[in-house]
Amino acid sequence: MGKPLTQSQRNQLLEWFSQDQFSTGASACELHIHDISPHRCPPPSGVVWPKTTEEVAKVMAWAYQEEIAITPWGAGTSTEGNPLPIEGGLVLDLTKMNRIIAIRPEDLQVDVEPGVFRRELNRQLSGSGLFFPVDPGADATIGGMIANNASGVKTVKYGATKDYVMQMTIVLPNGEIITTGNRAHKSSSGYDLGKLFIGSEGTLGIVTEATLRLSGVPENQLAATVTFPDLGSASDAVAMIIGTGLEPAALELLTEGLIELMNVENGLNLDVMPSLFCEFHGISRASLEEVATLAREICEDCGALSFHYGTDDNERRNLWRARHDAWETINRAHPGKNTLIVDAAVPISRYPEVVVFANQAVREQGVDGYVFGHAGDGNIHVVMAGDPEDQGEWSRLETVNHLVVEKAISLNGTCTGEHGVGIGKRKFMAMEHGESFILMKRIKDLIDPKGLMNPGKIFS
Ligand SMILES: Cc1cc2nc3c(=O)[nH]c(=O)nc-3n(C[C@H](O)[C@H](O)[C@H](O)COP(=O)(O)OP(=O)(O)OC[C@H]3O[C@@H](n4cnc5c(N)ncnc54)[C@H](O)[C@@H]3O)c2cc1C
Repeated sequence: MGKPLTQSQRNQLLEWFSQDQFSTGASACELHIHDISPHRCPPPSGVVWPKTTEEVAKVMAWAYQEEIAITPWGAGTSTEGNPLPIEGGLVLDLTKMNRIIAIRPEDLQVDVEPGVFRRELNRQLSGSGLFFPVDPGADATIGGMIANNASGVKTVKYGATKDYVMQMTIVLPNGEIITTGNRAHKSSSGYDLGKLFIGSEGTLGIVTEATLRLSGVPENQLAATVTFPDLGSASDAVAMIIGTGLEPAALELLTEGLIELMNVENGLNLDVMPSLFCEFHGISRASLEEVATLAREICEDCGALSFHYGTDDNERRNLWRARHDAWETINRAHPGKNTLIVDAAVPISRYPEVVVFANQAVREQGVDGYVFGHAGDGNIHVVMAGDPEDQGEWSRLETVNHLVVEKAISLNGTCTGEHGVGIGKRKFMAMEHGESFILMKRIKDLIDPKGLMNPGKIFS
């Protein structure tokens, strides 16, 4: 555990920063001790809200000399304890670095600071015909999304955060400022250092500026809901839709329990059956109709009971809002409980196997668990509600998590499709990566030899 700040260290920060940029107050510190995971930690020694790259560099260089741990913070919406300052020290909250620096529609690019929220970015882009398509559901910051390599419902067509980051300004643990990448559409110029930092969860440095690629807003969109008699046939249809090259813009799997909750909480009237929510984007209505016809045929071949589709924007929005709110809906339905979220991914051909396995694990362990996921990219989630204080109950949740992750890894998949490692997934890293995990640690030690950057994350 890190030592509290000495009086002279506090004085140094007070000399550099006014009250709105540095606090050791209880409320500021306690706002930074939990994300949405069940993990908690003692309050940090203080919180700094830098406004410029130079301020980040100044604090980092000084903290490096003083050996003070630094944990970056975005919106705090992580699910694995990723931004929790478990070793104390200072939290660097990046939300005051929230400028959209330049929009370059001619290059389909935008330059942003890390504290820009993704919804605000898309609000600012509206009217330009462009958008930033990575959508993790939560209103996360761009810095947090880069650090976790976030993805979401549209990833099956548009890709993950890593596919949108072109150039970054990064402050290293010793305060050195570097730039990775460039703004060219392609490059084969040496090691791709940008990719090393994307998904590194703030353990290697702090992103203080990023150039993001943008996508064109699709002209025509079509949403479909499909019901199936069982989970196996629903997930078979997923593998077939992807295998046929239909390129859905979203392809989500939901089990009966979640559909039932959504009907109650979101005022929907969906059939309570294993279901797929799909979305397709196309250049014309006619092309979308063709795609819908093909998708229907595939689903019916897999045993679908119903296939409803339409291009009504309101209907589409309501459906996706309900899907996005799944975690809140489950929370509301289990007052006083906490949630443990399984996040694993497998090759698409193995999706049916992992989904059926997860559903069975939930039943066998007798937990309140809801299986769903970004089926189109082989990503499964199980959101389970329980009381961390009730050891018997919580250990059954942990068992389901362990079983599903182990199964995913055994199928050549991963312990985390999108939420990152944080604290919760550290125990699976050696199992998934073998010798490569040792190399990851050597890289960490090279860039952060004092182990001060977001300590205790990714590595135990
Ligand atoms: C309801 C709900 C649904 C979600 N669904 C999805 C989903 O579908 N897909 C998905 O990917 N995620 C999902 N998430 C998880 C979460 O929203 C994402 O991981 C998101 O990227 C976290 O961003 P944040 O701004 O909240 O970052 P934080 O949680 O504050 O931080 C995330 C990590 O980034 C580091 N960090 C923050 N800023 C910087 C920076 N500037 N430089 C370096 N490191 C930094 C932190 O130290 C931490 O390790 C969901 C969360 C919720 C609450």
